[in-house]
Amino acid sequence: MLRLSKSIVGIEEANAVKNVLVNDGYLGMGKEVQEFENEIANFLNIDPEFVVCVNSGTAALHLAVEHSVLKNSDVLVPSLTYLSSFQAITAAGSNPISCEVYEDTLTIDLEDAEKKLSPNTKAIMPVHYASNPGDLKKIYDFAKKHDLRVIEDAAHAFGCSYESKKIGSFGDLICFSFDGIKNITSGEGGAIISYDKKTLNLIKDARLLSIEKDTNKRYNGQRSWDFDVKYQGYRYHMSNIFAAIGRVQLRRFVDEFSLKRKKLYNIYKNNLLDCPNILLQRTNEANEIIPHIFPIRVQSGMRDELKLVLENHKIPTGIHYKPNHLLTFFGNGKQSLPVTEKLYNELLTLPLHPDIKEDEVNFICNMIKKYIKK
Ligand SMILES: *Cc1c(COP(=O)(O)O)cnc(C)c1O
Repeated sequence: MLRLSKSIVGIEEANAVKNVLVNDGYLGMGKEVQEFENEIANFLNIDPEFVVCVNSGTAALHLAVEHSVLKNSDVLVPSLTYLSSFQAITAAGSNPISCEVYEDTLTIDLEDAEKKLSPNTKAIMPVHYASNPGDLKKIYDFAKKHDLRVIEDAAHAFGCSYESKKIGSFGDLICFSFDGIKNITSGEGGAIISYDKKTLNLIKDARLLSIEKDTNKRYNGQRSWDFDVKYQGYRYHMSNIFAAIGRVQLRRFVDEFSLKRKKLYNIYKNNLLDCPNILLQRTNEANEIIPHIFPIRVQSGMRDELKLVLENHKIPTGIHYKPNHLLTFFGNGKQSLPVTEKLYNELLTLPLHPDIKEDEVNFICNMIKKYIKK
């Protein structure tokens, strides 16, 4: 049976965990986490001081919002995103302002965002939907013009590039997720990258209950006994066990996962490019996409039936995502976002992960074409 997405872990990850459990014996935040941060920095070609690992992508977003804007701020965010983006904003005491996405790129619609600006708007959270960073420069220009912080939800975009620059290697605050099915996994986990040292140092402390400067002590196998606390803190640090998995995954991403994901993505695109009633996400040639998911748009009201047809052939599909503005906690659909609501009825995510065979992708595409023709 095909899987829509899958954690690709094996003996190497198991050995790395075993090493932490048996040889090291220290399971909290220590050397492994420090090494993982160093290796992420190395991958992005940045200084390790800018990388902070935490225990989920949601925690990364929460801390990024909490320490970049005051409570009760309005944060512009596309409604078409995973629930985490919204929950992170409210967890930080701020207000998610649901915005449309552009129909073709599926990234935040800046004309719509502009209409929703208020004196209380302090940040924008672009989401790199299906690993597409969209026009990031325009987003940063918009933020500069309106004096907003930028918190990139880059949960889908680990390893991707915007105009030859890796996502995370520039910008304001960039949040990654390493949950089980993302481009790399650490079991659960996430990271915040920021070039605003003051904000980042607060975030570093906040992952360890906001004990001042505890990170360096932990990395030297020590901890603070006499300390002060000035802010709300959390138990959001990454454990050595998870970091050990992440370190193996980062190596495998470079040699294995990134190539396979791109290869399958290209087979899908070439196969479905001219298929009637199927629209593909528009991406910019200048950006490198290493796709976490592969969503298509199915037009003419055929999405639900196609979903069933594929499922009957043991091809699982997904719908990314139920728009957040329709959820009770985030407005209960009182606000109307026509483009997002239309997309919600068209989007269908096809299976994509490094364990799928090229033949299987061809088979999926043939099933789709056969159904669309009849
Ligand atoms: C996965 C994901 C997150 C959250 O990451 P977790 O590590 O699962 O907490 C946030 N935003 C988007 C768009 C995601 O896909």
